[in-house]
Order: sequence, then C-alpha cells, then structure tokens
Amino acid sequence: MAESLRILVIGAHPADIFDQSGGTMAHHTARGDWVGCVVLTHGARVHDKVISDSMHGRKTIPEASALEEMIEERSDVKAQEVRRACGLLGVEDLYFFGADDSILLVTEELVRRLARLLRELRPNVILTHYPKEGDGVAQPHAITGQIVMHAIHFAHSVDPGDRNPPTKAAQVFFFGTGAAAVPSDVWSARIGVYNDVLIEITDVVDKKLAALDCLESQGYGGAYARKRIETSDGAFGVGGRVAYAEGFIKMDAEVHTYLPVTSHALRLAKESDHEMMRRHSYRVRVD
Ligand SMILES: [Zn+2]
Repeated sequence: MAESLRILVIGAHPADIFDQSGGTMAHHTARGDWVGCVVLTHGARVHDKVISDSMHGRKTIPEASALEEMIEERSDVKAQEVRRACGLLGVEDLYFFGADDSILLVTEELVRRLARLLRELRPNVILTHYPKEGDGVAQPHAITGQIVMHAIHFAHSVDPGDRNPPTKAAQVFFFGTGAAAVPSDVWSARIGVYNDVLIEITDVVDKKLAALDCLESQGYGGAYARKRIETSDGAFGVGGRVAYAEGFIKMDAEVHTYLPVTSHALRLAKESDHEMMRRHSYRVRVD
C-alpha cells in the first residue's frame, strides 16, 4: 500500500482503545501511519478503584459536591494513564470528550462535536465499537458505536460554523471483543457477526501488555491485563492459527481486482498441523 493511512480509534471508556486495538495501533504507528484516539467518556465510574470499588458496600456515599470533586479527580488520573499508555504505542494525538459515563446517550451535541473532529482530522480508517453490541440500548460500547455512525454520516455533509469540508472514511472496523466474543446472554445469543479481520499482534503483544498495565485505576494492570490478553487476543489468535490477534468486524464489503488470499493463509497451507500448533502455542512472557 503506497498511501499512508490516517486511523482514528474511538472508544467508549479509557481502556477500550487499548484493550481492543492496542497491538494494531502499535503496528500502524511503527509503519508511519497517523493514529489518533478519541476517548468518549471520562470513565470514572467504570471499574474505578475509588469511585466504583470503595463506594461499594458503604452505608452512605459522600454528598454531591464531594462526589463530583472525586469524579473529576479520578477522571484526571484516568486521562494521565491513557496518555502514558498511548505513548508506549506511539500515539500522540488524543482527544478526550469527557462525556459522563453514567447514562451515555446518542445526543446531537456529541454527534456534532465528533463530526466536526472527523472533518478536521480526515481519517480514512475508523476503528470503533460495534453499534449493536449487547442489547444495543443501555450498552455504552453500542451507544458509542451509534454516535460514531451518526457522526460519520453527518461528516459527509457541511455544518454551518465548521469551515472544514465534508469528509468520508474508506473503511470502518468494529472492535471484535464484546461484539464477536463468546455468547453469554440473551443479547449476544442472537448476534450474527464474527471477526472477519484478524490482525496478528504476536510481535507487539508485550507492548500491548505494557499499555494495559498503565490502566491501573480501571483494574486493567497486572493479572487482569494478562487474563485479557490470553482470553481475548489468545482466543482470537487461535481462531486465526496465530498466537495472539485482535479481532475486527469490517463494515463494508471489500472490492478487489483479484481474489484476496493473504500471505498468512498461504503460509498456513504449507505447514503441518504440528508446525502450526507450535507456532500458535507461543505465550508471552509476563515476568
Ligand atoms: Zn468499555
């Protein structure tokens, strides 16, 4: 591919962009592509060790202003962790929308703001959550995917006050974790999608682990990061007969002049079963 890509990764919570696509981002920044990230909510309520954990099981919680101050403080801690993790993956351009993660809704304000950012940054590839993840109603990942879809449509057009011209992305890849994972509730039981794109991240899995380790406030560091890597990236990897992979669901059918056969598929066809098993049994060192 001659043209370098402009890739915008849009996640609901601070950890999502890394959890879902940390290895893929590391590949693209190393290749010289531009990668930027949007974190839609401050995420202070999600798995936060102060707001979520220490409030759990109390008789009463602090009064409103003290709680609001606490949420603001925790949001800053999370933003710093995200900056550090992005630095490890070579991502410099970060946009925090600071939306409240209490009740995330598709609002005109968020759609308009994101559409303006799309017209300004002009990404040709967008990575985000699958808009029908979970129940698709009260699921913040799904709502984020929906906000992104509205913003993509709006960015195709003009908005008075925004001097940047309309823009279109060439492809959207939805995050596979969550959307294409093991069905575990009535919502995921009816899901009809699977990861149709796997990005092998075995060569950068240690970088992804280091990025997840930065996300301490969300409990992603340490044992949980290792569990995620093995159970999501490891499982997706086994699906593609590699050690670790990130899974994506592409939005639009691809158009080719010739049948798309990857170098990975050709290599796989030449391997014996045991050679293949040896290769995908590789485990990242965690000490
Ligand atoms: Zn999330």
